[in-house]
Amino acid sequence: MVSISIRQLTKKFGRNTVLSGINLDIAAGELFFLLGPSGCGKTTLLRHIAGFYTPNSGQILFDDEDVTSLPVHRRGTGMMFQSYALWPHLNVAQNVAFGLEERNRPRPEIEARVAEALEQVKLEGLGDRRIQQLSGGQQQRVALARALVIRPRCLLLDEPLSNLDAKLRIEMRSEIRRICKEFGLTGIYVTHDRDEALSMADRMAIMEGGHLVQVGPPAEVYRNPATPMVAEFIGETNFIDGRVLRDTSRVGFFDVETSLGTLRGRPNSEDWRPVVGQQVILSLRPEALSFEQIFDSPNRIPGHIVNTSYLGSIVQYELAAGTENLKVCQMNPAIIRQPSDQEDRLMIAPADVVMLRK
Ligand code: ATP
Repeated sequence: MVSISIRQLTKKFGRNTVLSGINLDIAAGELFFLLGPSGCGKTTLLRHIAGFYTPNSGQILFDDEDVTSLPVHRRGTGMMFQSYALWPHLNVAQNVAFGLEERNRPRPEIEARVAEALEQVKLEGLGDRRIQQLSGGQQQRVALARALVIRPRCLLLDEPLSNLDAKLRIEMRSEIRRICKEFGLTGIYVTHDRDEALSMADRMAIMEGGHLVQVGPPAEVYRNPATPMVAEFIGETNFIDGRVLRDTSRVGFFDVETSLGTLRGRPNSEDWRPVVGQQVILSLRPEALSFEQIFDSPNRIPGHIVNTSYLGSIVQYELAAGTENLKVCQMNPAIIRQPSDQEDRLMIAPADVVMLRK
């Protein structure tokens, strides 16, 4: 188990600054996710931690050891990438043994550790199998065993599940998390997939243009996004422009004038106290909007349904309200409302109307 600290890390490719003064502390044993739009620098950051790149400036520490200039094979990191590149001419055990053979470990030790790694990923007894005789999910487990066999100090994963079908992806999510937790591994995981990040991460960083925009546990990032980009990246939402009207008698809540009428909401951070007249953006999650009465909420939004999509466990609606089209999502629907000209009314709790800086 190792903690990882990144200090003022900057990387340029030619004139292009790809990482810009990154500061980040990852605790020992933490499963940490790097998330963000394509090209934001996730893989480049992970590759610095692995040792494939040297930064222009800044430092990487494993516990108190400065590893910034340490070569890949001396960092003790296990890696699992999108194209997991198993060798088809070698069997499962030979694929897993590779990292140990490179390190010239004695044969009996290699055999014992390969067996141990296969057991960790629940492939015991399959060492003699050819790679082509395995399912996609099993191949993924071999790649994971190959990363684990060197008993890494941390596990680095770059979109490890993106080649798998949806069902296997979900199965492997809990498997990777189990392994990290059971063996006390610090894990750093790069993905585009917000569900993967929300369901697996202890904490996550959302990156944009070579910067960390927000770092926090999944629920914190989802409920209190730092910017509109984060709000949209981490889940579906509705953005409404507004202007702060007044402070309310309920501490921490503000009335905001919008094209949908006055909505009561709260700032995304306790450190920010919006001022009267300030322009803001409101983020309203589709699942927080409800056709039912919400006790104690002054927020009522009239409109009519223009689209209904029934998806079994949920129904998605589009509601035309003023000049806006709001996405609404209802779990376990008893009644399915159909598009109509008749006026409906949505409600939303003030705590779910999240004010973001414009
Ligand atoms: P994706 O989600 O698409 O994989 P990412 O967030 O992982 O993206 P990176 O692969 O880290 O992004 O790339 C960040 C930026 O750095 C991109 O603009 C990319 O084109 C550039 N880049 C990455 N590697 C190199 C390189 N070896 N030489 C020059 N530019 C590079």
